[in-house]
Parts: sequence; C-alpha cells; structure tokens
Amino acid sequence: MFGPEDNKPARRVNSPIGLSPKSMVAAPGPFAAGVWQNRRMVSIPSKLPAVGTTIFTVMSRLAAEHGAINLSQGFPDFSPPARLPERVAHHMAAGANQYAPMAGVPRLREAIAAKVERLYGARYEPETEVTVTAGATQAIFTAIAACVRPGDEVIVFAPVYDSYVPAIEVVGGRAVFARLRHPDYLPDWNEVRDLVTPRTRMIVFNSPHNPSGTVWSAGDLESLADTVRGTDILLLADEVYEHVVFDGRRHGSAARHAELRERSFVVSSFGKTYHVTGWKIAYCLAPTALSAEFRKVHQFNVFAVNHPMQAAIADFMGESPEFADGLAGFYQEKRDFFRRQLEGSRFDPLPCAATYFQLCGYGRISDEPDTEFVRRLTREHGVAAIPVSVFTPDGEDRRVIRFCFAKGEETLAAAGERLRRV
Ligand code: PMP
Ligand code: GLN
Repeated sequence: MFGPEDNKPARRVNSPIGLSPKSMVAAPGPFAAGVWQNRRMVSIPSKLPAVGTTIFTVMSRLAAEHGAINLSQGFPDFSPPARLPERVAHHMAAGANQYAPMAGVPRLREAIAAKVERLYGARYEPETEVTVTAGATQAIFTAIAACVRPGDEVIVFAPVYDSYVPAIEVVGGRAVFARLRHPDYLPDWNEVRDLVTPRTRMIVFNSPHNPSGTVWSAGDLESLADTVRGTDILLLADEVYEHVVFDGRRHGSAARHAELRERSFVVSSFGKTYHVTGWKIAYCLAPTALSAEFRKVHQFNVFAVNHPMQAAIADFMGESPEFADGLAGFYQEKRDFFRRQLEGSRFDPLPCAATYFQLCGYGRISDEPDTEFVRRLTREHGVAAIPVSVFTPDGEDRRVIRFCFAKGEETLAAAGERLRRV
C-alpha cells in the first residue's frame, strides 16, 4: 500500500492451485516462483494484497544502511527513567514470570483508572472497563476486530496512521476516508457528516495527531458528538500522545466527554509516556459492554501481556504520577530546539501543537515526490524522515515530510547541521 520501491506488494504469480492469478501473491524468498524442486507450492490469496512493509520499517532500514541520523520512525533515543527497568528486574526476581491476568495486572488497571479520573474526571471500573494490551497497535486491532463486520464502513481521517486501514480491511470492513485539510490538518465536519451512511459502524480518530501534530479542539469533539448522536456508530479514539501537548493547551480526551465516552474505545500507550516503545504495553478504556466485546477478542489474540513489565509500570505510576505531567514541557523544549536547528535551512516547518513529530515542507528545495525526496535525503544528506503522502489513500503529495524530534540535543543538532546544508 505505502511508499517507495521495497514497499511494494510482493509480486504476483500464476496460481498453481487454480485460483485467480489476480489474487495470488508470492511469498518472498526461495519459494517465490511458486514451484520448488518440481513440486507445486501452496499459494495464498492475500487478504491484504495492496499492503507492503510499513514505511517505518522501510525508512529505519534505509537509515541503518546509509548510517543516517534516523528521524524517521518515531521512538526516543534516550533511556526510560532508571526506576522502571529496576522494577522490572525486581518483579522478575520476585517471581512474576507466569501469565498475568487476562485483562491486566489489577494494580496497573487501578493506577490507570486513577490517572484517567484525575486528568479527565471520568471513572472507569478497573475490573470491567480497563484492559491492558500489547501496545496501542494491538488495542486498535482488537477493538476493530471485535466490532467491525464484513461490509461495514469505518471512517478514518487522512493522513491516517498506518495500522488502521489494514486492520479494518482484514476483517472485511471498508475504510472511508475523511480528509484532514492541509496545512492545518483539521477535519471538515460537513464532509464527515456526508460520509456517514447506515453502514457506518465506527469512526477512528487520532488526537493529538500523528503525523501532523495537530490537536482537536473542544469544538471538533462537539462536532463529532453531533455527527454520531442518535446512531449506533462506535468511536475509537487513539490518544497515544495524550501527554505530549504544547503551549499550555490541554488534551481533549474522549473520556472526558460524557456523550463520546459512552460509545468510545479510548487507547493510550506507555511506550510514548515512559520512553519504552519497545515494551509494547498500552491500554484500552471502554464502557462495560464494549470492554466485554473487546476482551472476547483480546483473550484469543494475546490473552495476557508481559507480567513483570506491567507490575513495574504499576509501581512507577504509583510512585511518580507527576512524570507524565512533565512530558509536555520536556518535549516542548525538544520541539523548540529542533525548530531552531531548522532556522536558516530551506525547510519550512509547519505549526506543531503536540506529539514528537515536526512536519516540514520542502517545496523550496525540490519538486521530487516526497517518497523519493526522503530516500535522497537519507542517502545523500544522512538524515532519514517519513514521507507524509504514504498516509493518504490517493498518495496526495504536498511535498511535506515528517521528522521525529524525540532525540537527544546532540542528535538533533547534528541533524540540523546536515539539514541546513540541503
Ligand atoms: N497510534 C499512533 C498514532 C502512533 O503513533 C503509534 C506509535 N507510534 C501507535 C498507535 C502504536 O503504539 P504502540 O507502539 O503502543 O503499539
Ligand atoms: N508510531 C511510530 C511512528 O509513527 C512507529 C511505530 C512502528 O514502527 N510501527 O513513527
């Protein structure tokens, strides 16, 4: 689906078992020809024929190949608070090495519920309404798989985070795209209302938004509430950057909004909040009936999540509730530092209200498609970035790319020096 050369779907082959060649996709590697040592190979009609390897994997690999500074895939290059791995080691030594409870370690679910109540004034019952997941990606996939049926429509907003559409399509749903308008990347609610049909099962939205760094206002949430009022449309709110909102603004969680909350799955990720993207631990909040459906799927696609890490995060949330509150200031300094590095370059930074991503126009440098420009930037200038067109259904290319500034100042300064020479 997305992106450049090695992001293309695997090549098509003739079907050795008589299925339509059009729907056949060869596995890569020695079996790709479909025949091996004169034996017919099994072939598989892909459920996701247009999907290749994610742009994050593609660009991180290219960065590594060229020894480039990797500002593409979003992850910090600094350590989590030392206390967190210490607590993991403690819990491993203390015996938390077997399955955790299916819905998550109770102390962690209680800590999540307490945090959400403190920040958003909403009470979710740890026992029935909070589920710990193996990353936000799994929570999103599970919510979609639990609710979307073949033929259902799901409205998403493009540029759209790359995991949503494959999750919808693999369960037989159809993604319907609402546009986030360049350059403010906010929705046009009249357009969204026009996209709603009797088949609309769900609306998936992401604020603060990756890749644009925009935040939906209270007015946007009201418009969303107007759009779904009187329907059975479910909502999936991807709020993984809830703590990374700048300039004194507050994140407007779907959990805070009584009308939205009653039909929402609200997802956040500890990867973003505690600088541990590699731990893949997140959670999903939802009213009891929705959580029950969510758990029906969750118990059979992961069952339970890493036990000692859940216990460690529960400890840390209890000991240092202020850590998450400090995240906005921490990343705002990085945003400002990175933007200063871009002064004097020919990149044009767009406003960045949240997240750890900075969008930049490069129209003053080149007219190349963004997918080619990021490759050349990586190869020739030693800085890797993400092309924004890959997040749109039609590849709409505004000559805008995304840099991740969740990096130490030395890394950002070195990247800035290179970018000023482009
Ligand atoms: N949603 C968005 C908008 C993201 O940016 C990311 C990861 N960066 C995720 C979901 C996935 O989070 P996780 O790593 O916890 O699966
Ligand atoms: N969400 C991260 C980003 O936007 C990447 C996560 C991944 O690689 N799957 O860069």
